[in-house]
Amino acid sequence: MIFSQVELAPADPILGLTDAFKADVREEKVNLGVGIYKDESGQTPILKSVKFAEEKLLATEKSKSYLGMEGVEAYNRAVQSLLFGAEHSVVTDSRALTAQAPGGTGSLRVAAEFLVRHTDSKKIWISNPTWANHNNIFSTAGLEIAEYTYYKAETHSLDFEAMVRDLETAQQGDLVLLHGCCHNPTGIDLNNQQWQQIAELCLAKGLVPLFDFAYQGFGAGVEEDAQGLRIVANTVPELIVANSFSKNFGLYNERIGAVTVVGSTSQETVNAFSQIKSTIRASYSNPPAHGALIVSTILEDAALKQLWHDELQEMRERIAEMRTLFVESLKAAGVTQNFDFISNQNGMFSFSGLSKEQVNRLRDEFAVYIVGSGRISVAGMTKTNMPVICAAIAKVL
Ligand code: PLP
Repeated sequence: MIFSQVELAPADPILGLTDAFKADVREEKVNLGVGIYKDESGQTPILKSVKFAEEKLLATEKSKSYLGMEGVEAYNRAVQSLLFGAEHSVVTDSRALTAQAPGGTGSLRVAAEFLVRHTDSKKIWISNPTWANHNNIFSTAGLEIAEYTYYKAETHSLDFEAMVRDLETAQQGDLVLLHGCCHNPTGIDLNNQQWQQIAELCLAKGLVPLFDFAYQGFGAGVEEDAQGLRIVANTVPELIVANSFSKNFGLYNERIGAVTVVGSTSQETVNAFSQIKSTIRASYSNPPAHGALIVSTILEDAALKQLWHDELQEMRERIAEMRTLFVESLKAAGVTQNFDFISNQNGMFSFSGLSKEQVNRLRDEFAVYIVGSGRISVAGMTKTNMPVICAAIAKVL
């Protein structure tokens, strides 16, 4: 019996929480674990722009034949425009090639598999803390993991000096995972000057940036959130981007993202890309079409694109409103500890500073589910569940 040797896998720190939440029978339960946007009524809606694009596709799609390994061409072009801007030199000099891939996770995994098999880069530096799945994806693909400091718990702020100090010890060819914007879980991003400094450090030491760009548009705006990536792309000769449209198009279950390689010459990019395609061929052959066709239909149609921008702005603004309300409601619930730092964080998450024990009490005693690190999905807060959440937090502090 071969399965008799298999041990039960531990629950996933984020998705395992969703399973526990579903099994919870308490009526006032709130899930602030997984990063899913909820509207004011607590629903995760399909964007109108997506619905219109799907109607258009239903009427015009003629075939369900296989895509190429790299996916939908128009989609891949649109991805590059969103990431770099259509006129960026990496695009106009043909130094960037993009392959559609299944979500941000699939894109990161394809990138990691490619790097392990076809380059000498075997070590990746990830921020401490980071999204729980990074370690899992990279180590499963065979990369060695190292950590750089990112966060100073006492001040709830970026520890940029320590970040630089740690990355100074990296070796030529090492990979550096950078969150494009809305750092998960801290919600704290680099400013442009700091991005420039990291770009120059990577250039000087021969480090290769791997961008995880899962929240474009959830920080300050679609263009604003790409500044860090563009600063780095202006400075270093080589990089990889794994981006996701799960959140900013609300296409979570369509599994749509992309991996983009930027090489120092167009020929080197072509070579690297050919191995990205062979990695895809060996894992899922070619990607599913629907999510990519939705995104490219929206981005190629001026009116649909504008509608998407408006809808994304609405999501961004609602989360910002919840952030402010969260800080105010904690005060109203009698919390004297200062949580004002939450107002300065970007994106879907708030890194609350709550301890593991407090997180467990929130779940066990109050049916409020947040990730063990103290990360709270502000995108899951509404005016209705806010008093329940804040009363619970006040009791565990
Ligand atoms: N990267 C980060 C930082 C994330 O937070 C997430 C999702 O939560 C992803 C990647 C993966 O996104 P996807 O659901 O598209 O695989």
